Amino acid sequence: MILGDCELHIISDGNFKLDGGAMFGVVPKALWHRLEPADDNNQIQMGLNCLLIIRGAQRILIDTGIGNKYDAKFAKIYAVQQPRNLLDNLHAKGFEPADITHVIMSHMHFDHIGWNTRANENGEIVPTFRNATYFAQNGEFETAQNPDPRSKASYLPDNWQALQRTGQLELLNGTGEVLPGIESVITGGHTEFHTIVKLTTPAGVAVFLADLVPTPSHLKTPYVMGYDLFPKQTMDVKPKVLRQAIDEHWLLIFEHSARVTSGYLCEKNGAYVLEEVEL
Ligand SMILES: [Zn+2]
Repeated sequence: MILGDCELHIISDGNFKLDGGAMFGVVPKALWHRLEPADDNNQIQMGLNCLLIIRGAQRILIDTGIGNKYDAKFAKIYAVQQPRNLLDNLHAKGFEPADITHVIMSHMHFDHIGWNTRANENGEIVPTFRNATYFAQNGEFETAQNPDPRSKASYLPDNWQALQRTGQLELLNGTGEVLPGIESVITGGHTEFHTIVKLTTPAGVAVFLADLVPTPSHLKTPYVMGYDLFPKQTMDVKPKVLRQAIDEHWLLIFEHSARVTSGYLCEKNGAYVLEEVEL
């Protein structure tokens, strides 16, 4: 899809599964299972949708999926399905890892930054995108390095330590432009420094919602993940972002949807309606 001076592609890293109850917090299963049917383990299908923005010579990747550094136990717990992973799908669009110039992380949980790094032929963990500058919020990086017991399992140092060694990690200090027209916007909610990424072009705005609204089944204000550290903040910020998305006709991108990855939001009889767009 072309948006102003940018070309946008959804690049999938496959699918995985999470517990349906954990994905909907206090919402009863009787309500959420109509939107997201659960399997025998009560898990629901989740996408790993990353966004590639091409603008002039820039190839900007927003989040990098779950990666491939996991072991068999992890693959089983999260039912990781990667018939084609992020690199396969980039290749299919004509891009190799060395072509990526910038990586912007929404936050640093393992299902968002997995392909930041990979093992080389000697088994050493190295940056996957050797020519890229990688951006993360400083506050999120500090949390990732000193996680509390609740967050510890979500932060895997293998996903960023190699970037520190090569000097490819650049830390951001709050909401602001990472590149001209591309803003990292702190929302909090999911983690203290969780961000969405806002792309402004002459032809309109696209917003990568990350874990603020992981799937279209999470549009309603109370439909908040049990994983969120600050659910009341999510419930405060989400409707404001969605209001603006409706009023200003933003293209919305849903990172964890296994079905509808993007669309424009409108309101009919007080309910959100998503007009699907294929990227
Ligand atoms: Zn996530």
